[in-house]
Amino acid sequence: MKKILLVYLPFCTPASPPYSLTSLYSFLTANSKHSIKVLDLNLQFHQLKFPAYQKYYQTKEWDNYEFTTKEYQQITEKTYSENNKKVLHGEKPDFFSELLRQITEQKPDLLAFSVVYSSQAFYAYSFLEEINRLKEERKINVTTIIGGPAVNEKLIPLADKFLKNEVEFLQFIEGKTIDHSSLNFSFPLDFSIYNLNAYFTPHPVIPLKTSTTCYYKQCTFCTHYANVPYMEYSLEPIYQTIVKSQQKHFFLIDDMIPSQRLLALAKVLKPLNIKWACQLRPTKDFTYSLLKTLYESGLVAVIWGVESGSQRVLNLMKKGTKKEEVIQVLKDSHQAGIKNVTYIMFGFPTETKEEFLETIGLLKDNQECIDLISTSIFGLQQGAPILKNPEEYSIIQITEVERTVLDKKITYNVSSGLTKEEATLLRKRYKKTIENINKYPKTMNFFKEHLLCLN
Ligand code: SF4
Repeated sequence: MKKILLVYLPFCTPASPPYSLTSLYSFLTANSKHSIKVLDLNLQFHQLKFPAYQKYYQTKEWDNYEFTTKEYQQITEKTYSENNKKVLHGEKPDFFSELLRQITEQKPDLLAFSVVYSSQAFYAYSFLEEINRLKEERKINVTTIIGGPAVNEKLIPLADKFLKNEVEFLQFIEGKTIDHSSLNFSFPLDFSIYNLNAYFTPHPVIPLKTSTTCYYKQCTFCTHYANVPYMEYSLEPIYQTIVKSQQKHFFLIDDMIPSQRLLALAKVLKPLNIKWACQLRPTKDFTYSLLKTLYESGLVAVIWGVESGSQRVLNLMKKGTKKEEVIQVLKDSHQAGIKNVTYIMFGFPTETKEEFLETIGLLKDNQECIDLISTSIFGLQQGAPILKNPEEYSIIQITEVERTVLDKKITYNVSSGLTKEEATLLRKRYKKTIENINKYPKTMNFFKEHLLCLN
């Protein structure tokens, strides 16, 4: 029997336990006899560094939420950046020894780092370098594994093995090929492996996933779905996960869920008397009656991928949505009792000032049914479909800049429409207009789990 330690790394928002490691832990437990443990070092880091904020977010009062969260956001951004710089300069980041000790005292045979966000790559880099040094000095003997969507070319050579999914992981630890049909994929996830009351929320908010990836897979700016085939998870283990967790608040972290699948989920969720939130694409199949059914099953908030108020830009994004239908969905959702959060992307290549203003107009004209606006500025990402055909989007002068820990950074220019700088400037100019529409503190965009902690 091997001792396996799964580690979640700093930095990401410590608002809920990690889904990725919980899923891997539960799969390995259901399909092997090894001893498996999980460490959430991201939570540990934030507990050590920001205990006063942890206490604040765990209370229900939340006086001065906007001010406190803005302060927290600034202080964490500064801390993360300083620590990343330390890693780049060959120094150890904060609490490095304490966190490493937590790993080594477990004396694992196999140590796996999960890198879900690129912000976690710096601690991964630093830990792997140190562990390799300790191995060379024969002070420890451990096989290191790395996995997750943000693993990059700089990290892979530092680990003994890079594994892409849970089946590859199991095959590696068993040292043999395993027939998929012999595996148990129908198991509930076990969140009891964490101290759920330690996260930065007044009550635990549990992340759930109901499918492997987005079923739509067409938005030209998106890299989320990669080459993963779309598969829906069985409803029974989802139900069992919720029951076993004994919790009441769930964030469905799927990028997108089809409306009919949501109806099937709602049937399962309604008798459990829970509250839940999810992310959706505003298409016309989200009718008032469907949204009302979802609301009655506990759906309190939806983050809608609205992106733009210009139909031309939506078409260019291949969002597959119609402006008039988006507006109707927001209205129906609001009327059904659901809180609406809108994702807006400014500065999509070729977007003009007039089209930017069309988006502002859509938000203003429909402000009574919008509770929170989450804006971003378009960025060109490695693997995005738009990169296959940049000239179609007037993208010119693409350059790749080498980085030490992260993958290459892509910069670009446009031959028509707003530049990135102009879009950023316009967003700044319309900051107040956007903020006046929000019913929730704008800083809640930083802690989306808090949408489930409001009542
Ligand atoms: S943006 Fe959302 S809907 Fe579009 S492909 Fe990506 S995950 Fe799917």
